[in-house]
Amino acid sequence: MLDFNNSTFRDARVVMRVDFNVPLSPDFAVTDDTRIEAAVPTIRKILYDGGSVVLMSHLGRPKGGPEAKYSLKHVIPALQKYFPDTVIHFADDCISDDAFIKSAALKGGEVLLLENLRFYPEEEKGDKAFAAKLAKHGEIYINDAFGTAHREHASTATIASCFDKNHKGFGYLMAAEVENAHKVMNNPQKPVTAIVGGAKVSDKIQLLEKLVESMDNILIGGGMAYTFIAAQGGNVGKSLCENDYLDLALKILDKAKTQNTRIYLPADSVVADRFAADAAHKVVASNQIPDDWMGLDIGPEAIKQYREVVLDSRTILWNGPMGVFEFEAFSTGTFSIAEAVADATDKGAFSLIGGGDSVSAINKSGLESRVSYVSTGGGAMLEMLEGKELPGISAIMA
Ligand code: AMP
Repeated sequence: MLDFNNSTFRDARVVMRVDFNVPLSPDFAVTDDTRIEAAVPTIRKILYDGGSVVLMSHLGRPKGGPEAKYSLKHVIPALQKYFPDTVIHFADDCISDDAFIKSAALKGGEVLLLENLRFYPEEEKGDKAFAAKLAKHGEIYINDAFGTAHREHASTATIASCFDKNHKGFGYLMAAEVENAHKVMNNPQKPVTAIVGGAKVSDKIQLLEKLVESMDNILIGGGMAYTFIAAQGGNVGKSLCENDYLDLALKILDKAKTQNTRIYLPADSVVADRFAADAAHKVVASNQIPDDWMGLDIGPEAIKQYREVVLDSRTILWNGPMGVFEFEAFSTGTFSIAEAVADATDKGAFSLIGGGDSVSAINKSGLESRVSYVSTGGGAMLEMLEGKELPGISAIMA
């Protein structure tokens, strides 16, 4: 595999998979450019070295053909903002003759952005012939699209077989995501604590099964806590509870005991009389929720206990909010945990915010600069933490 940081790209043409799948406003302005910003250091290094870059990405979920609203041309102004003096060309079809003429004519320091890869159904099918065409856009392939690394698509995985091992590698973002996930998964400094929340147990089963094998502590919050509490015979009222998962929840609790992993469930909860921002609410024990009420956040007792565990940890992984943090009345648990993670990090712990809604929560709390690493890839990070091999990573290592 090419060592990106120690390579020089002078006169080289690099075809680079990025994740520019950004949200757009109704008039097609980029409303959150986090994913573009994340790819900037890799692009910048190649351009500064004197190389040129052909950028390829998907955007949205087109139905197998061109759709104006999903055109990648909408992201050009947001990209240009980071490269004000760089010529950014655009090819309105990623494998047309025009696209190949444009990529062949690129000068050192220039960028060509290709139109949405998913305008071709071949992209998501991982089609070999399509991947081989994309590969013709450069003599080096760099993958910096961590957000799609768990997909076996033409531009994320198949294409890698068109390059020998010295001509393909990860960009800075991919390398950082992999390195930080490994810090939590492989020989982490102990005690190591996972905070797992979010809506459903069913979405996080594989993660929990993996974590039970390697963590010292698992703090459970969010809607998924109530399936565990119900499994133990608690009264959870109208809280989210997946009855099909009660047995599995008990199995996880049992397995934790044999692995010396402590699983914590919230002692108390903030319960609401309906699922609404202005619902009436009160604090009760999590296993004594009245029939017509639902748990929407962890309570003050749970916050206190979880904070102590977090502050005692040397390595912390956080995936999923502790409650319905989108509603202010039920956001205290999530934001207090964010603060505890930031305080533990100040004391020297390593903290990884592992994707999805915990990333929006940490950003909303304004504490993102006080944690060690915030992942850009929800599904990809989850699969990595579950111990799965990601096609976008293994294709480059092959
Ligand atoms: P996930 O994508 O699985 O991490 O779930 C995130 C979502 O879970 C957020 O939109 C939260 O509002 C929601 N959530 C967290 N706690 C609860 C809860 N106690 N009841 C219902 N939804 C919840």
